[in-house]
Amino acid sequence: MTKASPGTDPTGGRPVVPSRGALRPLGLGEVRVVDGFWATRQRVNGGATLDHGRSWMDKLGWTGNFTAARAGAGEVDRRGREFSDSEVYKLVEAMSWEVGRTASTDRDREVAELTELIALAQAPDGYLGTAFGGPGQRPRHSDLASGHELYCTGHLLQAAVARTRTGGAGPLLDIARRAADHVCDTFGPDGTWGICGHPNIEPALVELARLTGEQRYLDQAGLFVRRRGHRSLPQHHFGWSYYSDDVPVRQATVLRGHAVRALYLACGAVDVAVETGDDDLLAAVAAQFDRTLARRTHLTGGMGSRHMDEAFGDDFVLPPDRSYSETCAGVAAVMLAWRLLLATGVSRYADVIERILYNVVATAVSDDGRAFFYANTLHQRVRTVDVPTDEQQLGFGGGPRAPWFEVSCCLPNVARLIASLSAYLVTADDEGLRIHQYVDADVDTRLPDGRRVALRMRTGYPDDGAVTVRVTATDGGGFPLTLRVPEWATGAVLVTPTGRRPAPPGPVTVRHAFAVGDEVRLELPLRPRFTHPDPRVDAVRGCVAVERGPVVYCAEALADEDLDTLRVDPGSLPVDVDGGVLVRARFTALGERAWPYGPTPRRAPGAPLAGLRLLPYHRWARRGPATMRVWLPVT
Ligand SMILES: [Zn+2]
Repeated sequence: MTKASPGTDPTGGRPVVPSRGALRPLGLGEVRVVDGFWATRQRVNGGATLDHGRSWMDKLGWTGNFTAARAGAGEVDRRGREFSDSEVYKLVEAMSWEVGRTASTDRDREVAELTELIALAQAPDGYLGTAFGGPGQRPRHSDLASGHELYCTGHLLQAAVARTRTGGAGPLLDIARRAADHVCDTFGPDGTWGICGHPNIEPALVELARLTGEQRYLDQAGLFVRRRGHRSLPQHHFGWSYYSDDVPVRQATVLRGHAVRALYLACGAVDVAVETGDDDLLAAVAAQFDRTLARRTHLTGGMGSRHMDEAFGDDFVLPPDRSYSETCAGVAAVMLAWRLLLATGVSRYADVIERILYNVVATAVSDDGRAFFYANTLHQRVRTVDVPTDEQQLGFGGGPRAPWFEVSCCLPNVARLIASLSAYLVTADDEGLRIHQYVDADVDTRLPDGRRVALRMRTGYPDDGAVTVRVTATDGGGFPLTLRVPEWATGAVLVTPTGRRPAPPGPVTVRHAFAVGDEVRLELPLRPRFTHPDPRVDAVRGCVAVERGPVVYCAEALADEDLDTLRVDPGSLPVDVDGGVLVRARFTALGERAWPYGPTPRRAPGAPLAGLRLLPYHRWARRGPATMRVWLPVT
């Protein structure tokens, strides 16, 4: 492997740095989000969410576990679930990206301090984990199916990669390398034939290999991917598919089982495929994801429709009131789509990222950044009930955003994505630049041939569909600038220095000898529209949804309106109203009856049609206890 120089990444940090592929990602130092929808969320993330996560992890003893492990306290004093180390690592990763984004010295010191804490628990042989191997604890690696040890190590490696790529080369990378070496020694070709019940070590090892040039880490990741799918883990009561151990990765046709596990494994498989030139493996995972998008994904981009095992349902099992759509699955799906976008250059994967960002990631976090959804339902039938801001929740579904859950994987996960978001917006291709997401951002980078280009992107997106990209610096000469026209955007127009032209969905490229001051303007038609489900999604047959650009809308009731009786007139197109969308709808008089079935279709008288205001789905449950629905039955 070719080795990058740790701590001197000229891009200012990127989560994924493939050595080959259609596109080269630009990093935090090349793309800065300066205003608008995502700048607000980045400020809240850095100003509240990271501290909120830290204070809960301190309060619950998850950070203290590292001190306790050094002190040899063992199981007696250990707090939290067996995977709580991973939440600390994810928080450190998020904080590291935040250091890269803001150059905050306070946050930098905090990462250094947490690194010292983590170091306390590392054994002389490199093993690092506070839940196993101590006095009174089960032996190391004695429960690969459920123990999450390698999963936790994966998050440690990802934190170290983030730290190193944002200028903090040093102790955390040393800790991660020793832990990775221990994994390779233990599970390598001459070691134990094992895999972790929760994938994550796979993409983490590949990224550490990309960072350090250490071939051994890549080989180990490949080994873990190849070992998966042979039913080597104990049979699970949800089946071997729960941990994607039912079918070898390259033979599977769709993602199945626990959604986050499946998506992390797919990320690792793409990474291994890219680094080893295994195009068959890459094609297999791409086909699995494509089929998952076609048959197992909610309108929001949310993945997972089974609460019991946090899992994908069978094809077209997508009931909105049982949408699990774990926030972590949204983050993981962004990670997978990003890897496939970089590898293939297929702009549809950027569409997927956009859908998930606006409808899962933006939905998950409260306005103040101190509460979040674990599951993201598409239909809240029972009014949410506010929860105390100082109490952790045990259940994951049906409630409002909560300050903390016993399993709080989602908060640091979404925090690391938001902190690093500017690294998911723009890439270079063979000759020029490609803009994938429309955000108020400044870009300053070098083309593949070394010439400098700086761009200023300004937009009111997603409220407004006009995107202006202005060249603010250039070394001269032409280069291609490619923008993405989302698949929903029929009638888009591209305005270039040489004229206007229609821009069909997909990538549109402007080739021009750009001078400073030149502008390219993309006009995306942002009209609200009805969206109809595939007839095989039985749970929403007879319903429509409303979307506007990438944003899914919903009906929310704060008072006594019964959204179960709502009927929308599909003959009247939805229209914009200030901050929302108006549809024509009525509430019907479906009263109580003893038996909800009968010999003829039930019809109920309804009030006259009237305007009903919908709001962006990501805005729901922010005004107090509410019921809500995305899919709306038609009259
Ligand atoms: Zn989660």
